[in-house]
Amino acid sequence: MDLRNIRKEFGGWRGARSWTALTDVDLSVETGEIVGILGPSGCGKSTLLNIVAGLETQYDGEFTIQGKTIEQQIEAGFRVAYVFQEARLLPWRTVRGNIEFALKASKFPQNESRVRVDRILELVELSKFAHFYPQQLSGGMQQRVSIARAFAIEPDILLMDEPFSALDEMTAQHLRESLLKIWSAFRTTIVFVSHNALEASFLADRVMIMSHGPAGTIRQEISLAGVRRPRSYDDLDLIEK
Ligand code: ATP
Ligand code: MG
Repeated sequence: MDLRNIRKEFGGWRGARSWTALTDVDLSVETGEIVGILGPSGCGKSTLLNIVAGLETQYDGEFTIQGKTIEQQIEAGFRVAYVFQEARLLPWRTVRGNIEFALKASKFPQNESRVRVDRILELVELSKFAHFYPQQLSGGMQQRVSIARAFAIEPDILLMDEPFSALDEMTAQHLRESLLKIWSAFRTTIVFVSHNALEASFLADRVMIMSHGPAGTIRQEISLAGVRRPRSYDDLDLIEK
């Protein structure tokens, strides 16, 4: 995935003042890589994720995935999953129902859906809660379901916007570990936004640091490749000991 010279302006129509949210953003992400984006509030992190998700279509610059636009890729079956700060589960569906709904929306065959849901719920240690409704779960458990739902569709890219910032530190750390555990099963490309440098360095292969907004841009890149950190569930077991 390659972003070149991305610039995003909001407003500027009917005489309103325009507002530059992003300027000169260059970012390449390899398949299977985990990239963290850190930066102060308002510097354009969510805007950048929205562009990658294909939700924000008005911008200058070039964004391609293996030479094609995101629209062309989605047309060809490319799947993007998005995890937000809050779980955003459907309250009228059970845990299983929420994940099944996502599978159906991504056109997975219905006869596979039960097995897929079972497998992913096992990975996030929520098998016993499949028939629970979101409001019967804690915030951390709901976020675990939303991460499970995101991975269930086997996305080509997973975007996460401050996925753990609404949780207490112990729950957040448990979820980060769950995330790496699922990642080691799927090796999904992940781009996530965080306010937390420790979180970013725990999860990411590379951390991109953005400058203050307005007109935020990537100021620094920190590569963590080769740094010892947990990349499989076995590694996590070592850390707990
Ligand atoms: P935070 O850490 O607080 O979530 P952020 O880095 O995600 O901040 P963005 O939400 O991307 O920041 O916003 C970047 C800038 O763009 C901000 O100045 C914001 O006011 C502006 N902006 C974002 N969305 C819109 C919009 N829909 N219309 C107008 N301006 C917007
Ligand atoms: Mg944001």
